[in-house]
Amino acid sequence: MATDLHETIFTAKQERHKNLFLNYRNLNNFPVELLKDEGLQFLERLYMKRNSLTTLVSRAVVSIGNLAKLQSLDLSDNALQLLCPEIGRLRSLRHLRLSNNQLKCLPPEIGDLQDLETLDVSMNQLVSLPDRLYRCLSLQYLTADHNHLSHIPRQLCQLHRLNQLSMATNRLVFLPLDLGRSRELQFVFVDNNVELKGLPSYLYNKVIGCNGCGVSSQVLDSDLGEALGEALSEALAGLPGEVKVVGLETDGVVPLEELAMRTLHRTYHHHPTELNLVPPIILPKSLLDLLQFPLGHCHRCSQPMFTIVYPKLFPLRNTALAGVHRRTTVSFVAYCCSSHCLRTFDLQG
Ligand SMILES: [Zn+2]
Repeated sequence: MATDLHETIFTAKQERHKNLFLNYRNLNNFPVELLKDEGLQFLERLYMKRNSLTTLVSRAVVSIGNLAKLQSLDLSDNALQLLCPEIGRLRSLRHLRLSNNQLKCLPPEIGDLQDLETLDVSMNQLVSLPDRLYRCLSLQYLTADHNHLSHIPRQLCQLHRLNQLSMATNRLVFLPLDLGRSRELQFVFVDNNVELKGLPSYLYNKVIGCNGCGVSSQVLDSDLGEALGEALSEALAGLPGEVKVVGLETDGVVPLEELAMRTLHRTYHHHPTELNLVPPIILPKSLLDLLQFPLGHCHRCSQPMFTIVYPKLFPLRNTALAGVHRRTTVSFVAYCCSSHCLRTFDLQG
């Protein structure tokens, strides 16, 4: 077996193969011959499905990052527990398949893959996705089914080329307010997230999968429950910690802090750079992060929101989609910026 492997790699090196198939080879270790000396720097597609790899090579000289021209890497059905940060050096990589491994986290360096179009990390043990994934601006297909994800970083709503997001069978409780705001995002599958009760209203006109969502009943925060009604407070379970106020239709005045944040955001994002503004360093870090990545944008008027949301609930069973999605009790939630937008928001748009 080993000789056979060496011969395959030797031939690939000699003949400068662009594709290398090492599926079903019973490999326990990543073959360093792929990376040593001249290596296989011209390799474009590497398939290593169905082996027993537990780690990738990561040493100063010999690293997976040496495969500079690699466009497609398939490491599905292995036993990977860690993905080395050097993966971020594969700057030509367009397709990365890591399904059915034992990954608990992904390195933030994965955000350096500017050309990445497909990322499949389904059937792992991921509890979160790196925020920096938002820098993969070419990403079109993100699949993370069958993991332990409890949330989706709101930064991922900035992936303007993302067409399909699949996060079925996770532990999602809440979806980012802006999910679906991008026109490019057309397919969102979140089936079998039993705690998930609210879908951002942007998803109403998309192809969605939400079977088996909203099945478990949450223990309600009693104050929120009384003020907002049971269904709405359920849909808001897991609302990000940055939300300091949940506005009601009767709350006509937006709090001062929120107004200040909106003004700062306008100043720093709409003025030409030659104004040379000093960054608002006097703000606490939590608010600085919000200034860069607002909680979301008003579903009615697109105003960025930072510390307050005015939510409006539309139970799916009362919408035209009721016949399509039977095994679910989720609601669409419109997150608005003011009582005025809340009153005038209409799901049919
Ligand atoms: Zn608004």
